[in-house]
Amino acid sequence: MPDQTTAPHPAVERLRDIEGRIARAARDCGRDPAAVTLVAVSKTFPAEEIAPLVRAGQRVFGENRVQEAKAKWPGLRSLAPDVSLHLIGPLQSNKAREAVELFDVIETVDRLTVAEALAAEMARSGHKPALYVQVNTGAEPQKAGVLPEEADGFLATCRDSLGLAIAGLMCIPPVDQQVSPHFALLASIAARNGLATLSMGMSGDFELGIQLGATHVRVGSAIFGHRDAP
Ligand SMILES: *Cc1c(COP(=O)(O)O)cnc(C)c1O
Repeated sequence: MPDQTTAPHPAVERLRDIEGRIARAARDCGRDPAAVTLVAVSKTFPAEEIAPLVRAGQRVFGENRVQEAKAKWPGLRSLAPDVSLHLIGPLQSNKAREAVELFDVIETVDRLTVAEALAAEMARSGHKPALYVQVNTGAEPQKAGVLPEEADGFLATCRDSLGLAIAGLMCIPPVDQQVSPHFALLASIAARNGLATLSMGMSGDFELGIQLGATHVRVGSAIFGHRDAP
């Protein structure tokens, strides 16, 4: 049998590599590496492939489906109660209850009905996940998120009408474009609304996200490997 205590798990080796690249990207632009949080995107991967990363000390994970997270994470959390789980996929209003119960951060608040459902559920349950608003920086018709020109108004409605504290913004740039203008746009919307948190950058472009101010980068395939499903 291979020696489980000394043979590094391949995903853990890739995690260490990504951590090193994050730290280097931060230092290269004069930022504190500790100001950038790695969200390890574990969607589609089974609990047994995620557990080695939890054991290796990774504490922040992203999932894109409520049902999948519900099946995988109660068991994984027992390995490390201080795990922080981010919802990074679209949320339906009728899943708000489960989402508020399961997630520490909901990155994908993208319309009024969802914000209302979250406000009601947070008041009812007393659970208060951190909330980010997803901005559709490329104004893509098929993509979730508030339009850039609607973001200020949406943030004001969340704050003033629903009493929701929004911590930050996230975006997923169009696949076929340079990402930097999208990251810069997200950063400018956050700055003028006094928001400190920016979730931007994935496996292929997290260093650019860090250059443009990302506080959270969402990295999946560069850690876990190729995914068959989206
Ligand atoms: C899947 C996903 C990621 C991770 O993408 P990779 O290219 O595998 O790093 C990041 N953000 C969101 C919203 C995702 O759905």
